[in-house]
Order: sequence, then structure tokens, then C-alpha cells
Amino acid sequence: MADVNLRQVSKRFGMTEAVSDLSLAIDDGEFVVLLGPSGAGKTTTLRLVAGLERPDAGAVLIDGRDVTVAPPGSRDMAFVFQQYSLYPHLSVYDNLAFPLRSPVHRVPEPQIRKRVEQTAELLHIAGKLNNRATRLSGGEMQRVAIGRALVRDPAIYLMDEPLSSLDAKLRAELRLELKRIQLELGATILYVTHDQVEAMTLASRVGVIRDGRLLQVGTPREIYENPADRYVASRLGTPQINFLPVALAPDVPAPPGTETIGIRTEHLQIASRNGGALIGRVHRIEHLGEQNHVHLEYRGQTMITLADPHQPLQAGEEVELRLRHPLYFDAAGRRIPASPE
Ligand code: ATP
Repeated sequence: MADVNLRQVSKRFGMTEAVSDLSLAIDDGEFVVLLGPSGAGKTTTLRLVAGLERPDAGAVLIDGRDVTVAPPGSRDMAFVFQQYSLYPHLSVYDNLAFPLRSPVHRVPEPQIRKRVEQTAELLHIAGKLNNRATRLSGGEMQRVAIGRALVRDPAIYLMDEPLSSLDAKLRAELRLELKRIQLELGATILYVTHDQVEAMTLASRVGVIRDGRLLQVGTPREIYENPADRYVASRLGTPQINFLPVALAPDVPAPPGTETIGIRTEHLQIASRNGGALIGRVHRIEHLGEQNHVHLEYRGQTMITLADPHQPLQAGEEVELRLRHPLYFDAAGRRIPASPE
């Protein structure tokens, strides 16, 4: 495997700056996930690494070698796309063997068999090798598509939302397997998604991207606990973080310069009224089984938090809101550290 370095890379399509001055270093064996909404520049970043696009500015390095203008074939990467992109007329075996049979690689047939069988084991599709590619479930097809990347031993795997066309159950299953496989192979992976759960569970490090700009890079925990700004804070966490104008909560010990208080569910406890200053009203309770989503109203603002289903709460009830270690943001949306207690 290898390390990959993007240095101040920009790419423009007409008036659209798809990727803007993006720098990112991916270490050997790292699983880096770019998380961002549609149109953020995720696919373009992958295509720049793959050599399918050429940057207008900046450089791409693999293992220290400048490949910015090198053709895709010379970069030693394997790409997994969102769509299965299998050869429908071929068996699973031949689909998996295909990348190894290319004249570029010239792998001897016994070695191909070995690699294909190993990969099929890894992906739990060994029993399906003789099936036609079309005679598979969606999850199995996507395993084959991932397998076609895994049979090779490239410098880096590039994955573009490879699980997004699957249903929730399969997605959860393949997510776990992908992480297991990556750890087993020590693979270097750059993976892009708009799904925060994939980012949190798969990544060694997450990069949050928006409008072509990389806003913050860090471990999932760093990004969640120490977001650099309001946008990053709102990308992770379910229910989403609540934002409350500081003017509506003058008793909260916010540091100077605070404009908005960011309140995640774990920062907000609901209690019976007992002399506290923040009094809200329960607006609605959604019962989700193991947890309740409680919609609260506080001085004209709506907030959502989680509550234990056994906590006796009623719609319309007045409750005390207790804040513990919320996040603070300035007028530009940048994070401000909390004042020491
Ligand atoms: P999605 O999750 O929808 O795939 P993305 O984050 O992968 O989005 P990109 O596909 O990288 O986003 O697109 C970034 C921006 O660049 C978008 O505004 C898109 O319309 C534009 N763009 C991408 N490719 C081209 C192209 N070949 N020609 C013109 N504009 C493009």
C-alpha cells in the first residue's frame, strides 16, 4: 500500500469551483472518508486522485512521486463506484478475475485462481463463483464490485459511495465487512459519502467537505466533539445539534464573543421544574422504541433531544432544561472554546 498526498488542489468546471485549494495527506494503511452533501466535490476529488481529471492547480503525490499529470493506468489505483458496474454476461469468477487478466498485469492463471478464491472468501461469496453476475442479490453484486477492486493489490482503493444503492440492512452489514477487510489487508482507502454513519464507523479520519473546500479533518471523535464550526457540528449527530441564539439564554456562562450555543442531545437534560432559568415546553414526543425523540419549545425556538422512554413526559408540559458542556460559536459560525470553569 502507499500514502497519498493532495497539495492545494483546485479544479474548476466552467463557473463551478468543484474542488478548491484542497490539501489532504492519507497515510499508508489509513481509511480516510470525505463526508459532504451532494455537489460538495467528493467525486471530483476521487477523480483527481485517480487521474481521471487533471487539476487546474496543485499536485497529487503517491508515495512521494508526483503523479499530477500521470495517466490513470500508471497510478496503481482501484476504483469502486456507486453502481455495481459488473459484466452481466460473465460469471462471478470471471468478473473477479477480469482486472487480473488485463494485458497490463499479465498475471498467470493459477495465481489468478488463488487471488479470486481468497477474495471471494473474504467477501463471503465463495459459494457464488459460478453464478452469472446477474443472478445475485444487490448486496452480493456490490460485494463482487468491491471484490474486483480487492483482487488487485493497488497502492490505494478509491471508493465512491459504494454502499449507497443498498438497503439499510445490507448497508450496515457491508459496512462492518468493509472495515474488517480494510484492517485485515492494511489497505489504504479514500472513501467518499454523504452518510455520517458510514463516516463515523469506517474512517480512521474524516474530512468534512463543502463547496469544494475541506473544512476540517480529524478522527471521527475529534470531528464530533471538537467541530471547528457550526457547519461541521451540524454534519454529525442524530438528532442534529440544536442552535440557540445566546441572547435567549443570558444565564448560560458563554465565553465572550458567543453568538450561538450549540446543544447536542448529550448536552441537554430535561428535568422537572426546580428553580432553573431555562424553562421549555414539551411540544411532541416521538417514540422510537429504545429511545424517545423529544421536541421542545424554548422561547420560540425548537430543540430536539433524546430521552429515556421511561422518563414520564407529556406533550404540553413545562420542563427545566439543563445544559452540560454545550459548544459555543461566534457570529461567523466559528467555534469558541468554553471559558474555564
Ligand atoms: P454527489 O454526492 O452528488 O456525487 P459530489 O460531492 O461528488 O456530489 P462532484 O460530483 O464532485 O460532487 O461535483 C462538484 C461540483 O462540480 C458540482 O457542482 C457539479 O455539478 C460540478 N461538476 C462535477 N463534474 C462536472 C463536469 N464534468 N462538468 C461540469 N460540472 C461538473
